[in-house]
Amino acid sequence: MLIKPSINILVVENDITILQRCRELLVNEGHRVRTAESVEEALDIIQKHSGNVDIILLSLELPGWGGLTLINILQKAKREILIMAMSADCGEEAIEAMHAGAYDCIRKSFTTDRFWTKMNRAIEAFRLWRQLDILTRQRQAALTRIPHEENLMAIFNSITDGIVVTDWQTNIVLFNAKAATLFGLTEEKTLGHPISVSIKSDELLSFVMRAVKSDSSLAPLMAGEEPVVKVEEKAFRVHVDAVKNDTGTVIGAVGLFHDVSSISAMDKLRSDFLSMVSHELKAPLSSLLMQVSVLHDGLAGELNPKQKELLGKAKEKTKGMITLVNDILDYRRIQDGKSVQKIESLNLAEILQRTVELMRLSAEEKEISMKCEIEEDLPSFSGDRGGMEAIFVNLISNAIKYTPKGGSVNVILYKAGKDIRFKVVDSGIGIPPEDIDRIFEKFYRIKTEQTQSIAGSGLGLSIVKGIVDAHRGSIHVESEAGKGTTFIVSLPVEE
Ligand code: ADP
Repeated sequence: MLIKPSINILVVENDITILQRCRELLVNEGHRVRTAESVEEALDIIQKHSGNVDIILLSLELPGWGGLTLINILQKAKREILIMAMSADCGEEAIEAMHAGAYDCIRKSFTTDRFWTKMNRAIEAFRLWRQLDILTRQRQAALTRIPHEENLMAIFNSITDGIVVTDWQTNIVLFNAKAATLFGLTEEKTLGHPISVSIKSDELLSFVMRAVKSDSSLAPLMAGEEPVVKVEEKAFRVHVDAVKNDTGTVIGAVGLFHDVSSISAMDKLRSDFLSMVSHELKAPLSSLLMQVSVLHDGLAGELNPKQKELLGKAKEKTKGMITLVNDILDYRRIQDGKSVQKIESLNLAEILQRTVELMRLSAEEKEISMKCEIEEDLPSFSGDRGGMEAIFVNLISNAIKYTPKGGSVNVILYKAGKDIRFKVVDSGIGIPPEDIDRIFEKFYRIKTEQTQSIAGSGLGLSIVKGIVDAHRGSIHVESEAGKGTTFIVSLPVEE
């Protein structure tokens, strides 16, 4: 059974018998009833209980101010109260009352049936009236929202960067005017179609996929710098974020595209020059290192201790310069999107073995014991040879660099589930917790008394991270200041 909400009814009547009768009938039907015997008393109640009087059952034969006065006052005040007049004969005065705004008139000599026929109609009219009022307000609210939405669209279209919004399935649902110009998007061709159809970039798609799949357990979507993504001939600095609803559920992704094609061209010129200089320095520096090493090792004649010490320092500095030059060249390669030059089937065990042998000399010079454990029968890995060598060299040389004399460096290569894992454990100076999150940023170096004499560019780990990401792997670091550091690289083996 549908229970209708009760109505607040004020009965204004100075004839106590009629007043009580009305009251009784209404209360028996579950309505809330207040009573007044004069217009003044009625006005008092209306004022005190503002909003709590829905219908007034009003006698037109009240002494002093007549009922008509009350109708006029309420009409003027625009009170949303339905007035049902009551009169002895429902004659002239009743017609006047209805002109003034009363809904209907009930004869005071009513029967119960007659009373309810009229009252029910009035109650129904009141309910419809309220409903209409609510609908009108909602419509007004909607109307005021339209210009707001138009304003938002105007703002959206005035932004000089491209904005593209997708749903959780990566279908484009909204784009601004700039995005339309940049990527040639049109409503018919683009809306409702996957972003990959209109904007062709695997990298961008991977950001969008990550955004729509993101949850709070994942690392921030785009930590650090916004990447530059190439789409056809153009370059864009891109920022992609998840779009979440009020409850925090991811419902899509929003991408911001800043056209950096012209800056990129200048940048390219500058870094081409840097690469060229680095490349030209590499050969003479290597030959310088060889000659200094020959002298330092006494192969060109006996040295006194002072000469040996100075040549030792020269050798270290030259090595540092070679590392820097290599880092710049590696970094350029990654910036150019060439961190994966050629994918081939690789025997990581063999590559690591060779790298460890090459690095053994540096370890021995610092009296660092270096162990290398490689699990047997590792599966082959599809990756870029140069990239894998760079990962091994950078992590092992860091372990040696940041481990004081007499320490240890252990290198382990093993299978863990569907990954091949490469682990470097050193007993070195460790990394303070506050720096851990930043060591993969380019040019970031930890400045402490212990590191100030150690040469480096701050590029090595960002290079490693770039290569690992390009192979869809992950890198993880655990460290305790003063105790040592462990880097773990996981590389997924494609089945
Ligand atoms: P760098 O050329 O300075 O070695 P990296 O990018 O390779 O640059 O490393 C960034 C910083 O991280 C280093 O400056 C160093 O402070 C810290 N770091 C890297 N590897 C280790 C390690 N094995 N032990 C302690 N600190 C390390």
